[in-house]
Amino acid sequence: MSPELLRQYLEFYRDLGVKTLYRPAPEEQGPAEASAVPLETGETLFQILEDIGDCRRCRLHEGRTHLVFGVGNEKSPLVFVGEGPGADEDAQGIPFVGRAGQLLTQMIENTARKEGIRLVRDDVYICNVVKCRPPGNRTPEPDEMEICGQFLARQLLVIRPKAICALGGTAARALLGRKEGVTKLRGQWFQWRNIPVMVTYHPSFLLRAYNQDAKREAWEDLKKVLHFVYD
Ligand code: URA
Repeated sequence: MSPELLRQYLEFYRDLGVKTLYRPAPEEQGPAEASAVPLETGETLFQILEDIGDCRRCRLHEGRTHLVFGVGNEKSPLVFVGEGPGADEDAQGIPFVGRAGQLLTQMIENTARKEGIRLVRDDVYICNVVKCRPPGNRTPEPDEMEICGQFLARQLLVIRPKAICALGGTAARALLGRKEGVTKLRGQWFQWRNIPVMVTYHPSFLLRAYNQDAKREAWEDLKKVLHFVYD
């Protein structure tokens, strides 16, 4: 990655709220690179972003406006993994900011409030299996998931959450290698490298009016996850 591009990315993510990318040492007011504190894997989210760079490893880069890396608390005990950016996310460079994202935010915050858990969206970490928008919001192809999945794995290994919530079938396939539909997988615990994973419906699916039962089930799944992580 060229130093200039790196600087641009860094400024972009700094404007978003830098906790997304690196954790400043308390006494540190210096340049971003100096304040990137390595975590257990010996790397930081910033280093992963640097490695992704101006990525052209798969065809998805062709239609990209912004690469959508991830947002939230990099020390969060809970990570949500979606499929890939849509149009709003591509335009803003932030995951889950469109209609599905607003629903996800409500699901997290309303469920937490009802369950007596103090939690807002900024407290968790949110990312996707692929970092660039698939054309027309199609499902990512297996090779795209494979190529981008290595970066997701590295993000998860840096954050090392207590649990992961996989939103929809693509996230379930990427993390668990399971091909069954979400209806079969949801509500149960699986594991990704010893980290418990709960699969639930993708918020885009829940936005469709006829999915009222699924909405109730997703709320049940989320309750399980929140109590497991925060009790
Ligand atoms: N859908 C996803 O899977 N991810 C996003 O970031 C937005 C919509």
